[in-house]
Amino acid sequence: MSVRRPLRRRARIVMGRRRGTVHACPDKVRRRRERPAEPVRTCVGCRARASASGLLRVVAVDGVVVPDPRRRYPGRGAWLHPDLGCLRLAERRRAFPRALRFAGTLDTAPVHAFLTQLCGD
Ligand SMILES: [Zn+2]
Repeated sequence: MSVRRPLRRRARIVMGRRRGTVHACPDKVRRRRERPAEPVRTCVGCRARASASGLLRVVAVDGVVVPDPRRRYPGRGAWLHPDLGCLRLAERRRAFPRALRFAGTLDTAPVHAFLTQLCGD
């Protein structure tokens, strides 16, 4: 027994130190968790993945693809770089009917107009 006691004391000291470290850590861990990972979407034009904030959301309304920069429209949306090149690629690939699950031809004129205005072209 006289041998065990010093061992216990040592163990307590080690635990105390560990507790100290654990207290210092959660702040760092919490900060990492509170910063949410930015949602990543795929551009229907160039198929590149980008953060949702860098892409334009578009939705189909009565057979017309409408830009939804404020993301207010309900339902299925497609994501596109605010770039006329990506719009053309998406049109060529018929990506909008596919992405928006729309059977038929979609009119992309409003998105075209929106991007032309945006790019000042
Ligand atoms: Zn793109």
